[in-house]
Amino acid sequence: MTTTLITGANKGLGLETARQLIAAGHTVYIGSRDTERGRRAAEQLGARAVQLDVTDETSVHAAAKTIEANGGLDVLVNNAAVEERSADNGVIGPAELTTDVMRKTFDTNVFGTVRVTNAFLPLLQRSATPVVVNVSSGLGSLTLFAPAPADIYPGVAYPASKAAINMITVQYAKALPNMRINAVDPGFTKTDLNGNTGTQTVEQGAEIIVQMAQVNSDGPTGRFFNAEGSLPW
Ligand code: NAP
Repeated sequence: MTTTLITGANKGLGLETARQLIAAGHTVYIGSRDTERGRRAAEQLGARAVQLDVTDETSVHAAAKTIEANGGLDVLVNNAAVEERSADNGVIGPAELTTDVMRKTFDTNVFGTVRVTNAFLPLLQRSATPVVVNVSSGLGSLTLFAPAPADIYPGVAYPASKAAINMITVQYAKALPNMRINAVDPGFTKTDLNGNTGTQTVEQGAEIIVQMAQVNSDGPTGRFFNAEGSLPW
């Protein structure tokens, strides 16, 4: 029996990943910062709910204690993220960027991933097949995104946070060779994160997350994938 925790799984790609992994036989914990939203999502899918705000040490450690007491963890999907927008819902470019926006974005997307991963490492290390999936983005690939025209996506904080996730993935994978730790790009998917402007369905977007959550112990680690295959950093 594989037990999986997905952060930010009360909606969007996290919720769909939970649905697909439950169908594949995983016992899934829906991590949600709002207890009631998490409870409703878990009830809908036949999952377990755990309150987990990735920006809050106390919440993260309480979630780790709960999951440990219920038998431990095999797979961690670091999915929770924010993309800060301006008051008129615009992407925040260099001229409008503030350190507050950078801090809020990094606190959830980057420090949240480190906070959650490190809190759950002792549990994952006890699993025979420990797996971590860091949900990144193609916007975090310097190779893919640096040559793109300036107006494609003028935001700074979100792609910078995903570039940081990519490096974190590389370094954790090198240091923890018994674990499979990969970054994935779901692709531009219709969710609240982008005001539902994405061109893919959540079913399509979740495909690579689900695939890398099920990677074997002899599978890849320290790599970056989308549904089509390997991506450059
Ligand atoms: P979404 O629908 O906005 O879902 C984001 C989830 O993260 C929500 O459950 C949200 O909870 C949660 N969250 C935010 N801050 C949190 C915190 N402090 N603690 C715990 N949970 C928190 O977005 P999505 O598109 O599904 O995004 C999922 C992942 O895919 C993200 O890592 C995103 O960067 C990545 N991604 C998305 C796309 C895309 O086109 N959609 C493309 C590439 C990568 P609340 O409901 O409480 O706000």
